[in-house]
Amino acid sequence: MTDRPKLTTTGGAPVPSNQYSLTAGSRGPILLEDYQLIEKMAHHNRERIPERIVHAKGWGAYGDLHITADLSKYTIASCLQQGKVTPMLARFSTVAGEQGAADHERDVRGFALKFYTEEGNWDLVGNNTPVFFIRDPMKFADFIHTQKRHPKTNLRSATAMWDYWSLSPEALHQITILMSDRGLPQTPMNMNGYGSHTYSLWNGKGERFWVKFHFKTQQGHKHFTNEEGESVIGKTREGYQEALFGGIDKGEFPRWTVQLQIMPEMDADKTPYDPFDLTKVWPHADYPCIDVGYFELNRNAENYFAEIEQAAFSPSNKVPGIGYSPDRVLQGRLFAYADAHRHRIGTHYEALPVNAPKCPVHNYVKDGAMNFFGGITSGNPDAYYEPNSVAGSPVEVPAVSEPPLRLTGDADRFSHRIGNDDYSQPRALFNLFDAGQKARLFSNLAAAMGGVPGQIIERQLAHFKLIHADYEGGVRAALASLHGYKADTISAQPTAAE
Ligand code: NDP
Repeated sequence: MTDRPKLTTTGGAPVPSNQYSLTAGSRGPILLEDYQLIEKMAHHNRERIPERIVHAKGWGAYGDLHITADLSKYTIASCLQQGKVTPMLARFSTVAGEQGAADHERDVRGFALKFYTEEGNWDLVGNNTPVFFIRDPMKFADFIHTQKRHPKTNLRSATAMWDYWSLSPEALHQITILMSDRGLPQTPMNMNGYGSHTYSLWNGKGERFWVKFHFKTQQGHKHFTNEEGESVIGKTREGYQEALFGGIDKGEFPRWTVQLQIMPEMDADKTPYDPFDLTKVWPHADYPCIDVGYFELNRNAENYFAEIEQAAFSPSNKVPGIGYSPDRVLQGRLFAYADAHRHRIGTHYEALPVNAPKCPVHNYVKDGAMNFFGGITSGNPDAYYEPNSVAGSPVEVPAVSEPPLRLTGDADRFSHRIGNDDYSQPRALFNLFDAGQKARLFSNLAAAMGGVPGQIIERQLAHFKLIHADYEGGVRAALASLHGYKADTISAQPTAAE
């Protein structure tokens, strides 16, 4: 016993008893001065931080990004130069479920990557799908409300989901992927990741290229049907954590091939689709995927809460040579993600070890809750404002200014529905499916529509018909066989909100 450390309060004082409360007499009430008891209870009350509104249930690990191609003509980013190896963290997640949700639910998976580059942190906060349900951040909160619990019943509502979707045809592409085989991956290792948004790369000559990031699984795509997923959940609700953590623990290190699609800047004016629209892909035939390297996950976190729950990813984290694009949803996320972390973790969430850059940090940010590092990291206590004439204080770096965006126009609320083609790309995907994949798509959709009023179902079927008559017919037949659904007496409603 003597070689074990003393149990102490958080103030460092030895604790005489961790078993029995201090009472007035053997049957008397507890004394308020029993600080060890008070501290245990108070701290326990504070063990949880607010869970993420979306992507609450997650699984993560550390690894390395390896760049094998010469990208110097596209970008000055040091982490994207040939031969470079950059340490990283990945966190995968489901979107809608809470922290206690079962892992094997049909849902989009988050695919968030943090690269600890020598020029600062670069976060790519993507999904396992190349597109998303919305193309304007104005719609995000409403969309997510339809995926969460009804305010009265506290249950998920298929009616809310399909009411919203059937009034939002831009969601069709993502719905088709979600309800296809890829909507329920067997493990995080058996799915692709996509940066999803259009970003940009820029080089030393001030030239900008639009870019899409793809991460292709080297473990192969493996999916479960709904029935298989339900059977797994009956045995374990933590299948992804078991697979990812357990695999890495055994020395099985998953890898993803990193690919880029690159578009010259002025091509954005020529494509028949808006290349900044998050509901669209860039067809491979137009912009082929180029292999540029791979990443490997090879180290588990020592403490899940400290390193995975408190991992804070934000698309606003970027490094010189990498830029944003006019993608509206990306623009919204640049604010919303960092703001979510300030709310749920605290002002200095980026000072936590998992989030802290591995390069020196110098800024004039001052004070704030839980400031354990002195705040101003200028290196000189006299340099607590800027501009200043204090020797050695940090100064801005004009050399890393991005080339200007050559896109201008009137400030207005432009409709992105009118004239937009929400049907061709889902059709291209539908046409890729074989008969078995189509049959599973139909039955997954029909299953998800259980209990939804006929008017809403008809409105959605009208959209499926605009993708392909077989799509609509297949879902209609699956609805009839699964729910005894008949359309005869129901008239279709308007197909969009505008
Ligand atoms: P391609 O035939 O060149 O590409 C089709 C891509 O579809 C494949 O490379 C694969 O993407 C993906 N895919 C294959 N099977 C499935 C499935 N069951 N569920 C989801 N995705 C699947 O054609 P296009 O580039 O012209 O794209 C056609 C359609 O493919 C698009 O409308 C889109 O729905 C889908 N797609 C396209 C992607 C792109 O970036 N162009 C990316 C992913 C999907 P991967 O190689 O990424 O595994």
